[in-house]
Amino acid sequence: MKKLIRGLREYKEVYVSQNRDFLEQLAHGQKPRVLFITCSDSRIVPSLITQTEPGEIFVIRNAGNIIPPFGAANGGEGAAVEYAIHALGIEQIIVCGHSHCGAMKGLLQIGKLEEEMPLVYEWLRHADATRRLVQENYGGYSKDELLEITIAENVLTQIENLKTYPVVHSKLYQGKLHLYGWVYLIETGEVLAFDPEAHQYVPPQTQLEVVGEPGRFLSTSAPPVTCDLPAYNPDDDLPPATMPPLRRPAAANSQVAYKSSPGNISWLSPEQADRIYRGSAHPR
Ligand SMILES: [Zn+2]
Repeated sequence: MKKLIRGLREYKEVYVSQNRDFLEQLAHGQKPRVLFITCSDSRIVPSLITQTEPGEIFVIRNAGNIIPPFGAANGGEGAAVEYAIHALGIEQIIVCGHSHCGAMKGLLQIGKLEEEMPLVYEWLRHADATRRLVQENYGGYSKDELLEITIAENVLTQIENLKTYPVVHSKLYQGKLHLYGWVYLIETGEVLAFDPEAHQYVPPQTQLEVVGEPGRFLSTSAPPVTCDLPAYNPDDDLPPATMPPLRRPAAANSQVAYKSSPGNISWLSPEQADRIYRGSAHPR
């Protein structure tokens, strides 16, 4: 607690004194461009990892970055989603899971939770689609592998849950809303973004439009959207690829296993990445 009090004093002496005009301007209202949904985990600091200023991102946090499907809960999540889109006019939503997520570990051992932490147990039921998908499609893998897969799949499950909200459904129909799935890797500080065309997690920079060349994207499979992330400068070095590209099956819904090329992988192995594809309920 002492550390926090000292922090408040330091914030006032340093940040506030240097940013008085900015803070006064913020008092007139907010116009965030992105709704950022992430876990309550203390190791995730949204404004730090995205290097955003106060007023730039509207944040929802809870255990497991979960958005209960519309009508399934009377919590604050739905209200915050509705407010973000309708009142604030936000057009971009990021669901950001993270490595070593305690909530996802709990989801994999849900039976144990019922007695020890009944509220957590009830909450995680909103991620039951993730649990069932992993359980029924990813048999025979180690605990660590299953956790990584669960984290990645849960981001996709929660994006599907978001789509059940009338306000989201309507804006998506109008093409005025874009949904993004991210996984933050605590150990390296990297973010991987889900590419719905390639159905794999890729460095998010590859989804950005090349500066000065509208319509040209770094990844040919990237969807034609721009987001409010720092624009990519083609003169910069590309970040090292952290996951190999997956080959798309002949048919979008093909359940035939296909191999991904070997490469430098810091998180998911090619086999795991392959399983993410085969096991996901949302192949595009
Ligand atoms: Zn977490």
